[in-house]
Amino acid sequence: MEHSVIVIGGGVSGMTAAGMLAQQGFNVTLLEKEAETGGHAARWDRLFPDRKKASEVLDFIRKGMSRVKVITGITVVNITRNDKEFTVVTRGQVADGGSQMADIPHPASCIPHPASCIPHPASCILLATGYELFEARKKEEYGYGIYNNVITSAELEDKFRSGSPILTSEGKPPARIGIVHCVGSRDEKVGNLYCSKVCCVTGVKQAIELKEMYPASEVFNFYMDLRMFDRHFEELYYEAQQKWGVSFIRGRLSECAENPDGSIIVKTEDTLTGKPLKMTVDLLVLLTGFVPGRGMASISAMLGLTTGADGFTNSADSHTLNNSTEIPGIFLAGAVKGPVSISESIADARAAAIQIEVYLNSDKPGND
Ligand code: SF4
Repeated sequence: MEHSVIVIGGGVSGMTAAGMLAQQGFNVTLLEKEAETGGHAARWDRLFPDRKKASEVLDFIRKGMSRVKVITGITVVNITRNDKEFTVVTRGQVADGGSQMADIPHPASCIPHPASCIPHPASCILLATGYELFEARKKEEYGYGIYNNVITSAELEDKFRSGSPILTSEGKPPARIGIVHCVGSRDEKVGNLYCSKVCCVTGVKQAIELKEMYPASEVFNFYMDLRMFDRHFEELYYEAQQKWGVSFIRGRLSECAENPDGSIIVKTEDTLTGKPLKMTVDLLVLLTGFVPGRGMASISAMLGLTTGADGFTNSADSHTLNNSTEIPGIFLAGAVKGPVSISESIADARAAAIQIEVYLNSDKPGND
């Protein structure tokens, strides 16, 4: 019998793994809660470190997905396991696949609701539910949602993607721009001790892009440490300083306030000089970090998966079984396990697809 794989999550990792598995001949259904696939990458304009268009990466991945059945706009409401087979019940599916699934019984633990709930059989499940961005309003002292000229890095990407000039809320090109690192990450106050890993390089990339748009502007990155961990990241940091004159100030912002003209006063301590610093910027960009995806808590509860203190899902072994869980037939890929870059997400999804293929082609019990 042809094995069925359900991939939950239609971001970069889910799409990549789904495409690979379908190309290997498995019957793959990808379930996505949003109306479109693409995840956070669909919101991004250019990627670090080479500033390749995010849309080109997504187009490449989508080309490999022609055999994947994609169902969007749904919520997973129930997952049950019967020996080595699973049933995933979705709600909100409009029409696609409904008639094909009509003879699959609803699990006993799921109250049937035939009009909007559809059961999907699966030999295994890949969880690629990704992450959410930290809610910037929780850092009240930065004034997001209160001051118009405080925006998030994702909102800045929206503006880059639209191709329109970046302007302040007063319609002026910003002459001074602040970029704040570690918003919602490495922060005991909000309960997130971990580093989100990719926001440093995002802040450097965005600083360069702002300087490209407004060469006469001044751009300041307020950082705790710069974590330029991957190939070519450090070079990008050098480029930001040496070619574009971006300033880097070591210190965490303590508070922000708004001037009558809409500009933002920022206060920090420059921890390299040990002196307090107060300055005014026209636009303040908050590099919001990763937090665990909202939908994952209920899926973890349904399956009995464990999470770490950071809320991200645990794999069976972070060294040797990083795409497996302790439940045979349930696999993980991408940012469901913690912060990752897009290239890491793609690589991890490919690793997960191979693990799943080995599992499905094996007669032995267990998933590795
Ligand atoms: S990558 Fe940089 S900005 Fe992001 S949490 Fe880590 S240190 Fe902070």
